[in-house]
Amino acid sequence: MPESENKVESLISALRNPTDENKALITKAYNFALHAHGEQKRFSGEPYFNHCFRVAMNLAEFRMETKVIAAGLLHDTLEDTHITPKEFEAQFGKEILFLVEGVTKLGKLKYHGEQRHVESLRKLFIATTRDIRVLIIKLADRLHNVSTLEFVPPEKRKRIAQETLEIYAPLAYRLGMGIIRHRLEELSFPYAYPDEYKLVKALMKEKEEEIKRRLEKFYRSLKKEIAQSGYKQFRTSNRMKGTYSLYKKLVEKKMDMSKIYDLMAIRVIVPTVADCYGILGIVHANWRPLPGRIKDYIAFPKPNGYQSLHTTVFTGDGGIIEVQIRTEDMHREAEYGIASHLGYKEGITQDKTRIEDIGKKYAWFKQLVELQENVSRTGEFLDHLKVDFFENRVFLFTPKGDVIDLPEGSSPIDFAYAIHSEIGNRISGAKVNGKFVSIDTTLHNGDIVEIETKRSVTPTRKWLESAKTTLAKRHIRIALQEKNLPPKV
Ligand code: MN
Repeated sequence: MPESENKVESLISALRNPTDENKALITKAYNFALHAHGEQKRFSGEPYFNHCFRVAMNLAEFRMETKVIAAGLLHDTLEDTHITPKEFEAQFGKEILFLVEGVTKLGKLKYHGEQRHVESLRKLFIATTRDIRVLIIKLADRLHNVSTLEFVPPEKRKRIAQETLEIYAPLAYRLGMGIIRHRLEELSFPYAYPDEYKLVKALMKEKEEEIKRRLEKFYRSLKKEIAQSGYKQFRTSNRMKGTYSLYKKLVEKKMDMSKIYDLMAIRVIVPTVADCYGILGIVHANWRPLPGRIKDYIAFPKPNGYQSLHTTVFTGDGGIIEVQIRTEDMHREAEYGIASHLGYKEGITQDKTRIEDIGKKYAWFKQLVELQENVSRTGEFLDHLKVDFFENRVFLFTPKGDVIDLPEGSSPIDFAYAIHSEIGNRISGAKVNGKFVSIDTTLHNGDIVEIETKRSVTPTRKWLESAKTTLAKRHIRIALQEKNLPPKV
């Protein structure tokens, strides 16, 4: 059997309950892309089409429906071949054309270099706000591209790897696609920051043996306790912290490995939510939990939809282990996030309204579009993007219990402007968790922040240095200009 047939078969067998129509669409898209890319090659020397095939396979793994998988096969035909949108639409219709155009970079003639890159990103986001599946195709594409980085010329390689860590992995996280974020980070980190990667690897190796031994022992007792309590249906697994997320945590903890409690975690997966709490009870009845590390993400899901119970316990032999408890549904959601809602489901058609409804869960995307409309300079767009959307976020509370989420490193000044520009402009002091602090203090996750204002106060240049968000900086600059003081950037 020729290689190509072999592959279309394997793609079809990755579909879930395909109809004849589904099979025909995949076969047509497959042959169309195969011929359109013709003799084109990847940096690795293999046929370009292999990339298209892998992207489609990734989308099948995310359990996306047939149209999206077809779009995956076709995703580079408009950018890299002579196929025109008109021809494309005649073959595959408007919907698939929209998906493919969304991931297509802008023409090389109109834009160059960095500008082409940023404008293309902007275009991707706009298409995504109309149909979030565009972004999922882009992530499937990026996932294959970073898995073949070894063949890419060094300069380009580093840029792709860093961009993946700065933009695409955080996007995957925001969409709740934990496993995709993990893979993007693990594949990019060694090329983006080789020295840091080597350091983290070495630190991990030092600890690994000890942790594995301890884990094995804990694991056996835990399984015994669960079974003795009458739970018949449960499964367990280990998860090792990724090198990149460990690196970020280490930077936060001043490179002190003894402050890392979740290098390895044990997962317990059970059928129902009630079982989750039951297992948590068993864990705490047998091992003493660390105060302040019990997290109920079932009652309070993370903003990206993540649900689980987390607890960290003393193992009794000097060690500390994190236990994560969840149902099968939560597990799938934790790995594939939004894709698990958009994907193939028995008896549910993915019509336009349903896709829009799912997209609405991710309202921050609309903010992205507003941001790009308000920022004119290309470089500025990328800077704001990195700070306001993709850095780690901290969740803060007003004294009434409203949540304000801000980028890490934000100060009471940012908090005040996030509430209202007038509160920002008049901030005279702040209390964090009931104690007075200066208004340039760094806020931490879970802080309760109270802002004091005075009518006589006006923003000063110093505030610019203490503000982190674009919003705060913009208001401060306006106020400074009104005072006729030239702002120092
Ligand atoms: Mn591609």
